[in-house]
Amino acid sequence: MDVILIGGGIAGLALAHQLAPDHRVTVLEASPGPRGGGYMIDFFGPGYLAAERMGIIDALRSRGHVFEGVRYGTPDGAESGRIDVGPLVAASGGRYFSILRPEVELGLLAVLPDTVDLRYGARAVAVRDADLVGAGSPRRAVVELADGATLESDLVVACDGVRSVVRGQVAPGHGGIVPMGYRVASYLYQDPQLAEELGERMLMTDTVRRVGWVYSAGGGRVGAMFAERTDAALTERPVPDRSRLQREFAGLHPQVDRALAHAPESFYDDLVAQAVAPCWSRGRIALAGDAAHAPSLLAGQGTSLAIAGAEALARSLRAAGPHVEVGLTEYERRWRPTVEAVQRAGRRSASFFAPANRAQLRFQQIARRAVTLPGAARLAARRFVAP
Ligand SMILES: Cc1cc2nc3c(=O)[nH]c(=O)nc-3n(C[C@H](O)[C@H](O)[C@H](O)COP(=O)(O)OP(=O)(O)OC[C@H]3O[C@@H](n4cnc5c(N)ncnc54)[C@H](O)[C@@H]3O)c2cc1C
Repeated sequence: MDVILIGGGIAGLALAHQLAPDHRVTVLEASPGPRGGGYMIDFFGPGYLAAERMGIIDALRSRGHVFEGVRYGTPDGAESGRIDVGPLVAASGGRYFSILRPEVELGLLAVLPDTVDLRYGARAVAVRDADLVGAGSPRRAVVELADGATLESDLVVACDGVRSVVRGQVAPGHGGIVPMGYRVASYLYQDPQLAEELGERMLMTDTVRRVGWVYSAGGGRVGAMFAERTDAALTERPVPDRSRLQREFAGLHPQVDRALAHAPESFYDDLVAQAVAPCWSRGRIALAGDAAHAPSLLAGQGTSLAIAGAEALARSLRAAGPHVEVGLTEYERRWRPTVEAVQRAGRRSASFFAPANRAQLRFQQIARRAVTLPGAARLAARRFVAP
């Protein structure tokens, strides 16, 4: 059948890879090319296992890296603690690495079958059912593009991220995001000297309400990420503002200040949010990846779930053959419990992400010392990586 995927990010490319052997696949991606910039993500859990089954793990792993762990730093530049990543790697049976989000996209592009029609600069603005021919539910769907063109296919899957334009159509009343009370900014820049000083450990600031991270991103690059608490009622996407970023995050740590001085004009800046939809398909229109079930970076598994969900959807469609709606229902029945568990874990960790006050910071420092005890480290790691 003809399948249109809206969004050529992680979920869209992984799904295209899986559907291409059986279907004619078109991917519509709004950006003019692969999205650059980005942040380091931890890749583990269901997505790792799915990538192994899909035969794409080497394309991803070869672009990733295993850090020694995290070093915590205070505003005077002193080290206030460490966490090693070793127990996490061991508990996952070695199925864990860190990778820049844009590298995941490049890895997926490298293994994308050339039968996939990938169109950059193609922004979908609406999706609707195709006209009914006879009785019953619609058997095709139509995508409207920003340039006025329309495309029709047997199935449309929206892989257009947490701010999906399609989710509200599939699940009325759930088109918006569910903000978690944080805003995050991140960018990459060249700084071989700081990259060398940072070495094999990420630096995270031990600070209240605002937290900064800096890490060596390979090739002399430094990655910087900044999180701050915000009003949880805000939903509007913030406008990146370099001067504001430099002002608000100044003084967290001397190495973070150095990275702040290099903040580019344009960078990633958004609210940390989940997406919740009580149903993931309606007729021949379906949702996948963050568009269906963004867990937010608090859960740390958005990329992993996007890949594993794409594989689950393709498997259900394959098993259902011509009964597409049955395949979509089965995908949701099998996959929803996993993503809801990850989303719950993300919500539970929300209050710990950036301590609200000095008492919470102190509590986290004590908890961190407990986690570094060998037995506790193994236990915590096992909970974290369990698929
Ligand atoms: C700061 C930060 C840190 C994170 N850390 C982690 C982590 O540690 N581990 C982890 O696993 N995940 C992490 N994530 C989450 C992860 O990046 C996403 O969950 C994951 O990329 C989901 O993939 P996706 O393809 O569903 O959505 P996206 O990657 O958002 O891709 C959506 C694509 O759709 C395109 N698009 C949007 N609208 C349209 C349209 N109308 N028409 C056509 N194309 C459109 C976009 O340009 C984009 O390419 C983090 C996220 C952030 C913000």
